[in-house]
Amino acid sequence: MKRFKIPAFYQGKFISPIKKKRSESDRMKKELSPTRFDLGKVKINLARHFGFCYGVENAIERAYRAVEENPGKNIYLLSEIVHNSLVNTGLFSLGIRYIMNTSGKQLIPWEKITSDDIVIIPAFGTTVEMIQLMEAKGIDVVTYDSTCPFVERVWNKAAQIGQDNYTIIIHGNPRHEETLATFSHSLQTAPAVIVRDMNDALLLAGIIKGDLPPQKFYELFDGRYSPGFNVKTDLVKIGVVNQTTLIASETNEIITFLRQIMMTRYDLAEDQVYQHFADTRDTICYATYDNQSAALYLANEDADLAIVIGGYNSANTLHLVELMENYLPTYFIFSDENLISANEIRSWDIHDRKMKTISNYLPEKESVTIHITGGASTPDVMIERVINRLLLFYHPDDIDSHFADGFL
Ligand code: SF4
Repeated sequence: MKRFKIPAFYQGKFISPIKKKRSESDRMKKELSPTRFDLGKVKINLARHFGFCYGVENAIERAYRAVEENPGKNIYLLSEIVHNSLVNTGLFSLGIRYIMNTSGKQLIPWEKITSDDIVIIPAFGTTVEMIQLMEAKGIDVVTYDSTCPFVERVWNKAAQIGQDNYTIIIHGNPRHEETLATFSHSLQTAPAVIVRDMNDALLLAGIIKGDLPPQKFYELFDGRYSPGFNVKTDLVKIGVVNQTTLIASETNEIITFLRQIMMTRYDLAEDQVYQHFADTRDTICYATYDNQSAALYLANEDADLAIVIGGYNSANTLHLVELMENYLPTYFIFSDENLISANEIRSWDIHDRKMKTISNYLPEKESVTIHITGGASTPDVMIERVINRLLLFYHPDDIDSHFADGFL
């Protein structure tokens, strides 16, 4: 896989070389066991796969290149380049400004942006309407387009389904930039509707089977279906694509479920499924798969707790938390600063969507085992800082000698 030029301050002193070494010795990614740091009083298991993915590295490299190649110009990002505030703050400090926030709120009016300015499109991509708006203003939409190729792959899959006259069902978070972009690109070839989760899939199935009146669709999926959507004709042939960063098992469950609904509704044999359902595999990206597989491997090993590091609005990080908390106490933190002390941690609660301070998160026992992982937009340096801080709680005097002795 292509290597990118990422500023050194995102790298970890020992984490990044370990990651590189493991990836070089296991190019086929057959190995999922974690990297183990055994320091007696504390044992740390670092997930086999974590941190910056292809799309994030590509986006960061392009943003730094935009600054380097355009001295004196105004450089803008459509919105956060990735969902990690350390990365975004780093770009902000280079003078890059955001045109919109992650919710789509305009921060800089378009009237102020001219064809002389540089606009970077983030890794999630953007909508067709946004591209048209920029093109109309004469803005270059190609040179600094950092849309991840794995997101573009979803758009291509949607186009393929659409051209074959299937309505595109998009499994994703309707507020996430990537899903909004996929929705917009899907509309170029076919009607589309966004389903958030299995509950939404059940409601859609109710409409398809006729258990719910057709007009209920417009109420249930308000703001999430294409203009002119016709329930009677647009739910006869369907296919599913999904946001790249969802939980793989959940999206596959939805695909299997909707496939079965269409088979029952139209009384189809296996070899007739294609008549009403585009038999696609999920469009989860490789990084999401790898990180989730490594997290699940970790979660199935004994430990006292897990710490997941990443941006609180990062979908792929959030899903790592969701997976791991089924197995053991799991804390979602952004940085080492969340580890207030050996007694208190500030963790983001993904259910209540708020920060909580939790006491006694490190159990009092002879040896504590901690699983650690981070999302696809989490810099290695942040993971390393968290490990360092944990080690300091247990080995305040001899942390350097531990590293010198041979993790590498
Ligand atoms: S998480 Fe996947 S789709 Fe998103 S930027 Fe990374 S590689 Fe691309």
